[in-house]
Amino acid sequence: MTTLDTIGEFGLINRIQNGAAPAVQPGTVRGIGDDAAVFALNDTEFGLIATDMLLEGIHFDLTYVPLKHLGYKAVAINVSDIAAMNGLPTQITVGIGLSSRFTVEAVDELYAGIRAACEAYNLDLVGGDTTSSRSGLVISVSVLGSVPKDKITYRNTAQANDVVCVTGDLGSAYLGLQLLEREKQEYLANPDMQPNLSEERAYLIQRQLRPDARTDMVHELRDLDVLPTAMIDISDGLASELLHICRQSGTGAVIFDENIPIDDQAQLTATEFGISPITAALNGGEDYELLFTIRPQEFEKLKNHPRITAIGYLTADPAQTVLATRAGQQTPLKAQGWGQM
Ligand code: ADP
Ligand code: MG
Repeated sequence: MTTLDTIGEFGLINRIQNGAAPAVQPGTVRGIGDDAAVFALNDTEFGLIATDMLLEGIHFDLTYVPLKHLGYKAVAINVSDIAAMNGLPTQITVGIGLSSRFTVEAVDELYAGIRAACEAYNLDLVGGDTTSSRSGLVISVSVLGSVPKDKITYRNTAQANDVVCVTGDLGSAYLGLQLLEREKQEYLANPDMQPNLSEERAYLIQRQLRPDARTDMVHELRDLDVLPTAMIDISDGLASELLHICRQSGTGAVIFDENIPIDDQAQLTATEFGISPITAALNGGEDYELLFTIRPQEFEKLKNHPRITAIGYLTADPAQTVLATRAGQQTPLKAQGWGQM
């Protein structure tokens, strides 16, 4: 028997993908392997569908995660996979597993967050499933969406010399988690203690507890008339996501460490925790920003955009996926193993 650790999350997904039967439905355009599956919808648009599940004790800790935020986040992280295909969400279904310790009011809170996200992303909750759970809360969301056929962005269509861009800033959600975990440990040691989460750190906490999907960037890219050659959302950390694009597109990449956008509070907090801010951005995960590539001639159109940063370029050599300093030193980019899958 083989332990799951031996092949890791991505090895397991590859195995499932390789074992899947060939599509029998003519409407199945793209199956396992991208942020969302793609299916025929109408003459001009593709349909999109994605699923993401959150488990208590693995993905969240209810000692510091408010249920309302959790409901919002469960929707947002799914919408993020639709945004990664350059699409917009339309409907969700929500499955929940509840242990006996949850009250009706707790479920109301969770659904208040889900409703807030439906409003924020302009989508409808159209179904789901409710079961009991032996231990803790499980929340699994599936999202439907659509994208004009000529605007869809896959992971495997990037090209050498493309400019690599990211939206927003990276590493903040991970540092928010570190702050919350530290607070929890201090509280457990001294339950009379008052929470000490200063206002300046509110941004990091918010990035962890209530992330937003970058559907705004999908609109902006359309407004800028920029069609990325490839796109993925950053759920597992920049390094892991960039390696997905490179592996699937058959390219290499050079990323400049000094170009990686990191918030000031994130810089400070990383230093306080003795973590390199770059490491937090590369491997932290849960930022739910978009990572995309564009042809070099398109760069002019977005080079002055305040929330899009060029961080490097793709190369023709698939063996070269590196983080570079301006001085010219290069270190290989590595994806983290099983994290919070
Ligand atoms: P993301 O981080 O974008 O949500 P994942 O790494 O979770 O993507 O999944 C990568 C691909 O594998 C997606 O196409 C997803 O639908 C598919 N996938 C993940 N788990 C399973 C599974 N248990 N069975 C079938 N497909 C899966
Ligand atoms: Mg994704």
